Amino acid sequence: MSDTIAAIATAPSSGGISIIRISGDKAFHCIDSIFQAKNKSKILSKEKSHTIHYGFIIDEEDIVDEVMVSIMRAPSTYTREDVVEINCHGGIIVTKKILEIVLRQGIRLAKPGEFTKRAFLNGRIDLSQAEAVCDIINAKNDIALKNSLKQLRGRELEIIKGIRENILRDIAYIEAALDDPEHISLEGFSNKLYNHIELYCKTINELIIGAKSGKLIKEGIKTVILGKPNVGKSSLLNILVREDRAIVTDIAGTTRDTLEETIRLKDITLNIVDTAGIRNTEDIVEKIGVDKAIRLAKEADLIIYVIDSSTPLDTNDQAILSLIRDKKAILLLNKSDLPPMVTEEEILKDMEYPIISTSLIENKGMEELGQLISEMFFKGDIALNEDIYITNDRHIEAFTKALEALIMVKQSIDKDMPEDFYSIDLLAAYEELGGILGENVEEDVINMIFSEFCMGK
Ligand code: GDP
Repeated sequence: MSDTIAAIATAPSSGGISIIRISGDKAFHCIDSIFQAKNKSKILSKEKSHTIHYGFIIDEEDIVDEVMVSIMRAPSTYTREDVVEINCHGGIIVTKKILEIVLRQGIRLAKPGEFTKRAFLNGRIDLSQAEAVCDIINAKNDIALKNSLKQLRGRELEIIKGIRENILRDIAYIEAALDDPEHISLEGFSNKLYNHIELYCKTINELIIGAKSGKLIKEGIKTVILGKPNVGKSSLLNILVREDRAIVTDIAGTTRDTLEETIRLKDITLNIVDTAGIRNTEDIVEKIGVDKAIRLAKEADLIIYVIDSSTPLDTNDQAILSLIRDKKAILLLNKSDLPPMVTEEEILKDMEYPIISTSLIENKGMEELGQLISEMFFKGDIALNEDIYITNDRHIEAFTKALEALIMVKQSIDKDMPEDFYSIDLLAAYEELGGILGENVEEDVINMIFSEFCMGK
């Protein structure tokens, strides 16, 4: 923590500008040694905080680049330390060269996430907010981004703090009464405590249930497209990919996994699983008992079953329908531009699945598909919803443990156990919730969290 650290804060590729960020005690000394302002007598360490200055980075008399330098004095900075940011021309070579010169001033290269880690260790943000910063960087869609921003502003923090304060008050009351039974009575307290705990459990339970949606928002819906040959499966995938690409064409470096095609449909991310296998569905349908088809269908959050409405159903369709039984599925009655040979009633019989009529060749029905998926997974109103979705496995685990501890308190009350038993489990719940905010979290856990960050953040 006492070292001054530096890193390239922008993406390591050519761009309009790059930023080299320096944080720590030596930041100002460093910039004084390598920066020459246009007005040569200007010394940045003497300038006002939160100002930006034009000049040059100098390496032993040579001008390396023309830059703008922002200077920000502790404590009103991202890390709460002195921070200097050099905005240089955005070439990889020049950016690296400036970083090298900075590092020669007795400054160490920052580890991934180290700036944010300092913000946490210096008490500017709690651990859940730091994790939100990581999620913002990695957000796959608008909703995930909004959710992380809400978390960064401390919505989750408010909820946790509220519950913890109340738990602490309950503990304090019990302890006080045990210490001073003559003046503070525990008569009737267990009923009161029971009601409090029901409330805490309800809130925590809602967060855990919401976490399932949260994970889908953050990570995407695992989707499998099924159907007989020639019904339009590849056409569907192509349309989805094309619509997504149309939106994201200008984002450089968007890599696509060969096993999982990630597609954004409105605010939803679909992970179309193992497209190689899906493109080969001929085999899957013919050998419908094949493990792979069953496994794919079982693991999927969503199945899109495409049917060609211009040809009659056959036994393969029955096989697919039995495969998707009890799963979340949407049926696409495709080729609606051709004379129909299949009716909805004929397909569904006693089953209940949403059906959309589509003509993929005319690009009809995609809007409805997006709407339907959002209704199925997020009750249709994620964008407007003020709820916060917990998306972090570490938080979900802590909430679950806190809930277990609170349930133990309820059981102790039911069994009329002595009051000090209540305190023990209340304290356990209090500590579990504190762990989300970074209290008493082991150092290796903290290191793991920050190692998931990118360089320079
Ligand atoms: P897959 O074998 O299930 O992947 O089906 P494809 O997507 O390759 O489509 C098979 C054929 O059906 C192609 O010739 C498509 O152009 C055609 N097709 C796909 N969707 C429609 C549609 O909505 N209407 C019509 N008329 N043809 C379609």
